[in-house]
Amino acid sequence: MTARILSGKEVAEAIKREVAEEVKNLSFQPCLAAVRVGEDAASAVYVGNKVKTSEELGLISEHIHLSAETTQEELLEVIKDLNRREDVDGILVQLPLPAHIDEKVILETINPEKDVDGFHPVNVGRLAQGHSALAPCTPAGVIEILKRSGIKIAGENAVIIGRSNIVGKPMAMLLLQENATVTICHSRTKNLAEITSQADILVAAIGRAGFVRGEHIKESATVIDVGINNVSDTDFARELFGDAELEKRLKTIEKRGSTLVGDVNPREALEKAGNFTPVPGGVGLLTVAMLMRNTLDAAKMRRKK
Ligand code: NAP
Repeated sequence: MTARILSGKEVAEAIKREVAEEVKNLSFQPCLAAVRVGEDAASAVYVGNKVKTSEELGLISEHIHLSAETTQEELLEVIKDLNRREDVDGILVQLPLPAHIDEKVILETINPEKDVDGFHPVNVGRLAQGHSALAPCTPAGVIEILKRSGIKIAGENAVIIGRSNIVGKPMAMLLLQENATVTICHSRTKNLAEITSQADILVAAIGRAGFVRGEHIKESATVIDVGINNVSDTDFARELFGDAELEKRLKTIEKRGSTLVGDVNPREALEKAGNFTPVPGGVGLLTVAMLMRNTLDAAKMRRKK
C-alpha cells in the first residue's frame, strides 16, 4: 500500500485565497507588524516570506528590523508602541531572539489581542479552556490539513510526539477541542512505539530526521510530519527515500549540501500509513497561511469593538 500524500501546498493556497477574498471585502486593511532582532539568516527568510505573503493577500505589513545589540528594554519599548498603535492588528516577534533578551518577557508584553503567533499566556490559557483564541499557527495548520483532507478527528486516537509550547502542547489542545482522544509523548516516554502504533492520527514534532519508523505507525494511520531537518549524509538519505525520490534528493545534497527531511522516515511511512504529509510540501507551508488567517481574525475582533 502507498499512503495518500496530503498536499500542504493546496491547503495553504486555499486558506490564502479565502483570506485575500475576505480582506478585499473589509472597509479597512489589516496590518501585521513583524519584529526581527539581529542577523539570523533563517529568521530573515521567514520574516521576508511573512511580509511578502501579507502584501500578496492585501494586508499591510511592517517589517521592523533591529540590530543584534538592541537591549531588552529597547525591544520592550518597540512592542509597547505597537500595542498602543490603533492601525496595528497583529504583532509577531521572530524567534529565536539574541541570548541577552528574555523571550518570555517579550512574548508576555505583546497585547494578547494582537498576539497572532498565539504564544501569550492569555491565548494559551483560552485554548486550554476550550475557548476561541488566537492559536499557534503550525498546529492550527495541522487541524486545517486534517479537516480539509476529510480525515475524521472526533473519537480517533491522536498521539503527538513532542511537547513544545510552539507545536506539541497546542497541537494536543486543538486535537482535544476536535474531540480526539489525545496522548502526548516526549523524550521520557516509555515504550514509545507501543503507544504511537495505536494512533489513528500520529503527529511528529521532535526535531530528529527520520526518527519515526514503520514500527511506530499503525497500519493505515494518518501521519503528520511537522519536523524540518537538514540531512547531508548520502547514506542516511538512502535509508530515508525510495528509488524515485532518492535520485532527486541526492542531487539536492550535491547541489546545496543538504536536503530537507521531516521527523518521519518517508519511505517507511509511505508503505504503512494511509495518509502522510511530505517534507517539504506539507505542514511547513501552512504556518504562514495560518499567520495570515490569525492576523485577519485579530483585526476583525479588535475593530468590531
Ligand atoms: P523542540 O522544542 O525541540 O521540542 C522537541 C520535542 O520532541 C520535545 O518535547 C522533546 O521531548 C521531544 N523529543 C526529543 N527527542 C525525543 C525522543 N527521542 N523521543 C520522544 N520525544 C522526543 O522542537 P519544536 O519547536 O516543537 O519543533 C519540532 C520540529 O518541528 C522541529 O523539527 C522544528 O524544526 C519543526 N517545526 C516546524 C514548524 C513548521 O513547519 N512551520 C514550526 C515549528 C517547528 P522533551 O520535552 O522531553 O525534551
